[in-house]
Amino acid sequence: MRNKDKVTVIFDQQLKRSEIMRGESVRKRSERLKSLRNWVINNRDRIKSAIYNDFKKPPEETDVTEVSTILLEINHALKYLNRWSTPEKVSSHITYLGTQAYVQFEPKGVCLIIAPWNYPFFLAISPLISAIAAGNTAIIKPSEMTVNTSNLISQMISELYPEDLVTVFEGGVDVSQALLALPFNHIFFTGSTQVGKIVMEAAAKNLSSVTLELGGKSPAIVDDSASIKDAAKRITWGKLINNGQTCVAPDYLLVQEQIKDKLVNAIQQEMENQFGDGGANYDQSSSYARLVNERHHSRLVGLIDDAKEKGAKVTYGGQTKDDENYLAPTLLENISRDSTIASEEIFGPILTIDTFRNLEEAVEKIKMHPKPLSMYIFSKKQKNINHFLQHVSAGGVSINETVLHLTHPYLPFGGVNHSGIGKAHGKYGFIEFSNQKSVLKQKSGLTSAMILLPPYPKAKKFVDLFINAIVKLRL
Ligand code: NAD
Repeated sequence: MRNKDKVTVIFDQQLKRSEIMRGESVRKRSERLKSLRNWVINNRDRIKSAIYNDFKKPPEETDVTEVSTILLEINHALKYLNRWSTPEKVSSHITYLGTQAYVQFEPKGVCLIIAPWNYPFFLAISPLISAIAAGNTAIIKPSEMTVNTSNLISQMISELYPEDLVTVFEGGVDVSQALLALPFNHIFFTGSTQVGKIVMEAAAKNLSSVTLELGGKSPAIVDDSASIKDAAKRITWGKLINNGQTCVAPDYLLVQEQIKDKLVNAIQQEMENQFGDGGANYDQSSSYARLVNERHHSRLVGLIDDAKEKGAKVTYGGQTKDDENYLAPTLLENISRDSTIASEEIFGPILTIDTFRNLEEAVEKIKMHPKPLSMYIFSKKQKNINHFLQHVSAGGVSINETVLHLTHPYLPFGGVNHSGIGKAHGKYGFIEFSNQKSVLKQKSGLTSAMILLPPYPKAKKFVDLFINAIVKLRL
């Protein structure tokens, strides 16, 4: 069967099953999550070697960022699933006297999950947890760039679930587009802003709801009150884990002028301590991953060359090895506004450095870009922290920290406008994959609507009384 026909067949089968699943107990959803959890626990080494084979991601880093995060997400869903899926009573307004109202969370139906390559296991499976928790069927399209992990996900899903419940279609843009032509009830896409627009356009044809987890340029701001050592440690970690290929990685540094030199020195020191075996031995270090492929390697080298041509200086790093997709951690200063790196998401181990004199100037520089996915503020002054929180719109913020708001189980994760639409993780992920159905039940027939019914000449005095009461009594 051709891929295109197969996706239609499976889609139709999932549609049928999703109707049956509407009547299923929450316990069934929990069982599905538990079997996923067991598989991950029993196959932890396979996950680590698949991702290592894809881009030499250190196995310990995979444990921290892809295995533990998935297990925590499942545990959290199992703990709260009953509560999340219980209809939520809402208060009644006096004009609704005699009625009862609640929100019922119903499964959306058949969902499509399109994943990127950078956290190839976590970003395909984390939305699946929310989709299953909310009672949906799902089709997953992992990234074609991380083939080993994509194969493993496909094997895992076929071992765990029947095709009409969850299935995987491996492949590239053609497979993605064949899937996007179908009338999914929900599409959860993680990837670039550019492809996010294509996904949203395709979804619009079927009015499928979308969650778009996108990217952008996330600033790390360090003011003169911040602890330089702490800021350097955390910015370095956030920047270089996964070799800088993290959607929420600090993209550029905005540091208050008078502490720039000290902070840059501290960052170099941290880079060497954390990822360079105590020196600049990144190419030998078992803690330093690689870029995903040749295309991304030459894209990043191109960004450096273009910036240099326009006056930038490489003040640290810059070494590359083409045959290994290796690029050393690199610091770039004196970036011209018209260089590509000043406007494009970097998504690699390069940190550009810019300074500010006062908070207004920093905000102005951030606002030259679309609203970021994340913002990092390093400061000991609450007034300064509040200034950035108030004046910059961002998907999420970590204060005196990087990245961690992403995995916090009780926080929504997502972007805003160009950095994304909708929220993921925990309860927010459950809601994203649910229709929040409003239910109103008439109990005693007393609601104001009855006296306001036509014919209007008769109802007019009640309508006037009604408006008066709203205005005067502030109902
Ligand atoms: P990408 O947009 O190139 O690809 C993502 C997925 O879309 C892949 O499965 C790919 O096959 C598919 N795709 C690519 N082109 C397509 C097209 N024309 N039509 C339909 N489908 C298409 O992204 P990527 O390079 O895999 O990932 C990197 C990007 O993802 C970065 O911008 C990063 O910031 C972002 N990202 C965001 C988050 C988040 O949670 N917000 C997480 C990780 C990555």
